[in-house]
Amino acid sequence: DQSLFAALRAAFPANLDSVAIETADGPAGQPFTPQHYTWRDLERGTAMLANLLAGLALPPASRIAVQVDKSVEALMLYLAVLRAGHVFLPLNTAYQAAEIEYFIGNAEPAVVVCTPKNFAWVSRLAFSSGVGHVFTLGDDRSGSLLERASHCSDQHKPVPKQADELAAILYTSGTTGRSKGAMLSHGNLLSNARTLQSYWGWRSAREGGDVLIHALPIFHVHGLFVASHGALLNGSRMIWFNRFDPAAVIARLPEATVFMGVPTLYVRLLADARLDRDACRTMRLFIAGSAPLLAETFHAWEQRTGHTILERYGMSETVMLTSNPYHAVEGERRAGTVGFPLPGVSVRVIDPARPGQPLPAGEIGGIEVKGPSVFAGYWRMPEKTQEEFTADESGDRWFKTGDVGRFDERGYLTIVGRSKDLIISGGYNVYPAEIEGFINEMPGVAESAVVGLPHPDFGEGVIAVIVPKPGATLDPAAVVGALKGCIANFKVPKQVFVVPELPRNAMGKVQKNLLREQHQGLFA
Ligand code: ATP
Ligand code: MG
Repeated sequence: DQSLFAALRAAFPANLDSVAIETADGPAGQPFTPQHYTWRDLERGTAMLANLLAGLALPPASRIAVQVDKSVEALMLYLAVLRAGHVFLPLNTAYQAAEIEYFIGNAEPAVVVCTPKNFAWVSRLAFSSGVGHVFTLGDDRSGSLLERASHCSDQHKPVPKQADELAAILYTSGTTGRSKGAMLSHGNLLSNARTLQSYWGWRSAREGGDVLIHALPIFHVHGLFVASHGALLNGSRMIWFNRFDPAAVIARLPEATVFMGVPTLYVRLLADARLDRDACRTMRLFIAGSAPLLAETFHAWEQRTGHTILERYGMSETVMLTSNPYHAVEGERRAGTVGFPLPGVSVRVIDPARPGQPLPAGEIGGIEVKGPSVFAGYWRMPEKTQEEFTADESGDRWFKTGDVGRFDERGYLTIVGRSKDLIISGGYNVYPAEIEGFINEMPGVAESAVVGLPHPDFGEGVIAVIVPKPGATLDPAAVVGALKGCIANFKVPKQVFVVPELPRNAMGKVQKNLLREQHQGLFA
């Protein structure tokens, strides 16, 4: 049996009555009492939910689509879906009717689970698309799912699985276009979880164990796989936040050893003066990913807490690919890089004009990857799948990540942007991240996005969209003037826009396609 659930279950500590998850907040707007879930609770809860699913007599590997607010019960539902041999399909809670209609139509789930407050419209969409069952689950344990499961037996024999069988379909964040469903197998997820367990030095109970602060959403690869699998596969306790609240997280740091966050979480923690060395005295590891961590954040964090953030790189289609080193003997953690390929993962940087030919260190090209965690393909998009994998004569199959980057001499990978965001102006390649780096260093700048727009003479013309720091005023002409002194003229934005904020998708990633649309006709 190579099922992910079996591996996670086998990692539960011998004493099932010890605490597995402790809640640190509760349903919004209700008085909070901490809940303690033991490993036995996870065992019994997932058995009851798996029996509920088994009772529906669905075909094996049915898709179970879930759009609910974060809760421990929602995590149990994920585990129960694996346990019952079905395929988990999480959906971002920010998605509205048009998006849910697309996902349900595309994925054809057998079961949909939604929040009680969305039941009316979600069930209407689901039933008209032929979904057989709709349950509700609230973050306060309300809803029909737990009500029905409470009548089910707490004894359940987990369904065995082969490594290549489907465990989850994860829709990509939709930063560059419409979300695609990445099909991930039990083997993809388990191999990556095991690699990270050892690479990031998760401590056994004998070594004192670990405690994870879980403050990320669980509809995405970071919170659902990297964070949850990390703690579960290590039999480690989690301090569980349904919502991210900087002050509340800082208050719990002294009980924890590991924290994972997207870059904005680090920025928000730094904005709170209570974050200091003392608050981090028990911490072993801070991990960042999902979007680029600014060097400024990395250094500010180091100064304030004495810890260097470990940045890693991955995506829905591949789980984790590269990581800065954990142990100092392997090298330091370098700001602005995503570290080395993880053990078992191959990463190469390719010149798009010469397919299959890796570029030497220092040169920028398309990032391609291969390894046990790389997905099998996009759900019901065979052409798209074929496009995104290489097929050279050797039968070698590499996944084209769509990210652009370079290795340095010591083997650290740096991401410079996405190939779709690359700008070609007057025949020259312009890498937005390079220019953004210079702009972000300027006084009064909070963040920036550089994009290319159709230009009659140059093919594309560079523009920059800049967000000032609170209270600062920025002069577009001064920004252009300052850039002229430090980068080649063809890279200097022809126009600079100062705006209160950048457009972001539901995962908080900057949507450059929307910026391009907004300013489309500028040079026409
Ligand atoms: P879509 O594929 O739908 O356009 P998406 O690529 O944002 O959306 P995800 O799979 O959630 O969807 O995100 C993966 C992407 O996030 C990577 O391809 C990369 O561009 C970016 N990313 C992840 N980690 C990092 C990191 N540490 N630094 C820079 N970028 C990162
Ligand atoms: Mg992507």
